[in-house]
Amino acid sequence: MRLLSYLFPPRCILCTQVLKEENSYFCPECRNTAPFVKTQQLKTGVPFLSGNTSVFYYEDKVKRSIRRLKYYKKPQYAVAFGMLLANELEKEMEEPFDVITWVPAYRFKTFRRGYNQAELIAKQVAKLMSIPARGLLTRTRPTRPQNGLTKSQRKANVLGAFCCCVPEEVIHKKRVLLVDDILTTGSTASECARMLFESKCQEVYLATVAKTREK
Ligand SMILES: [Zn+2]
Repeated sequence: MRLLSYLFPPRCILCTQVLKEENSYFCPECRNTAPFVKTQQLKTGVPFLSGNTSVFYYEDKVKRSIRRLKYYKKPQYAVAFGMLLANELEKEMEEPFDVITWVPAYRFKTFRRGYNQAELIAKQVAKLMSIPARGLLTRTRPTRPQNGLTKSQRKANVLGAFCCCVPEEVIHKKRVLLVDDILTTGSTASECARMLFESKCQEVYLATVAKTREK
């Protein structure tokens, strides 16, 4: 283990500098300057979601860090993000959720990357909060990347792109925590939630590592 940490010393998940303290995910500078979300508030105009908790605003170092998780095979980041998210949720949550699920990735993407980052984060949150994690949704077709699209194009892009892949009784009357990496306009999460409501869930609450600021 010592040799491993000598060869691969733990690094700050935001700025990647080598950490001096053990059991920490951030360097002291990032801990003080990271764009943490201080007041949790759901973005306006997102149907089917009862609320949202995000750890960071999606900017600068946070953006680069999530990109490393997604595209540069850093699945270990999901452990850190999951822990930060679970901490934040425990502060916010009044009633426990019945099940934790995630925004599914199209199979080909998961295959190429080796993992779906939202699923890894969701499973980490579930473990820390002692709530079962279960894949409730699948993607029915590939979609274009959402960035660069307008709000209405985003909505159209994901419309009908998901379906519930479990029997209705698994979701019926359940309070579902939906996990994703980033919340932008909420189109993707809202479409996932719409499908969960078709299976008669009671509530869908969204948890993301980061969200964009309201303009
Ligand atoms: Zn740092």
